[in-house]
Amino acid sequence: MLTAVATAVDEPLTITERDVPEPGPGEVLVKIIACGICHTDLDVLQGRWPIAKFPLVPGHEITGVVAATGPGVSFPAVGTTVGAQFLGDSCGHCDYCVRGDQILCPRKRITGIVFDGGYAEYAVLKAGFVTPLPEGLDPVAAAPLMCAGLTAFNSLRQGKITANSRVAVIGPGGVGALAVRYAVAMGARVAVIGRSRRSEAQAREFGAEKFIATQDTDPAEALKAWGGANLILNAAPSTEAATATLTGLAPDGWLVLCGYNEDPLILPTRTMVLNRLHVMINPSGSPHDTRDTLAFSAAHDILPEITKVGLRDANASLDAMAAGHAGNRSVIVFD
Ligand SMILES: [Zn+2]
Ligand SMILES: [Zn+2]
Repeated sequence: MLTAVATAVDEPLTITERDVPEPGPGEVLVKIIACGICHTDLDVLQGRWPIAKFPLVPGHEITGVVAATGPGVSFPAVGTTVGAQFLGDSCGHCDYCVRGDQILCPRKRITGIVFDGGYAEYAVLKAGFVTPLPEGLDPVAAAPLMCAGLTAFNSLRQGKITANSRVAVIGPGGVGALAVRYAVAMGARVAVIGRSRRSEAQAREFGAEKFIATQDTDPAEALKAWGGANLILNAAPSTEAATATLTGLAPDGWLVLCGYNEDPLILPTRTMVLNRLHVMINPSGSPHDTRDTLAFSAAHDILPEITKVGLRDANASLDAMAAGHAGNRSVIVFD
């Protein structure tokens, strides 16, 4: 099977042939249809994830068809179209696991970071951590839902969104665009915060009622004038962008970070204590969150704009991401 292998930090992926692996107990072999290229893949390849185990096949936005099941697996059956996400396994018996919060398990294992992921024609995955795709959902366009979509959807839930919440989304790119569409579908009022007005038309097309361009407007002041945001979701890979909005939260409001970098988050503590403000960094989600994300996306016809690439184009796509070229989510498609 054709496979892209990261041999070490800061090395380009090597495209190579490998034997198709066998699924062990509790595992399924998935013939991969598509795998999205996530910003976290770049972070891993550039050495910002010390838990990464090289040599490694990256990729955690996987869709494919179950080709074989290992001993003891009765679900999902061979032939089922499934998706696999960042969280690839957990212990199953700690307090977090038994409460359905497997993403917090201290012994969790991450797909494409500590074991081989989706930049290959086949992957072996834990049966309990793959999710059947809802009927009719295009498995190629759905690949980014397994991380970008799940993270956006679950961040809105973690931030206690309700109908009529005022939600501000920083960063109109991949995760941000999905967050806007999910928030609108959940009944929220949405503002989008971008550096320039380049993506204003698309934000409004997705249902945003307000666009704040930080090159000419103070985002916190603009949010206050709007009545304050109940939830600010930062989808930009910049902690500073989130810091600049914090005083624009309404009382009891949440800042949820999906995007961040190495910069510190500077907290306006007086304002925060007077208004009981919350800050959270949300790591994707648990298997039930994946199921809900896929069901909600199918019900509201929310799929990301994607650019299809081949496995041999993965290095070029990662280089473009490293250079900061914004664009549609790149998705590796297998024949
Ligand atoms: Zn656990
Ligand atoms: Zn990801």
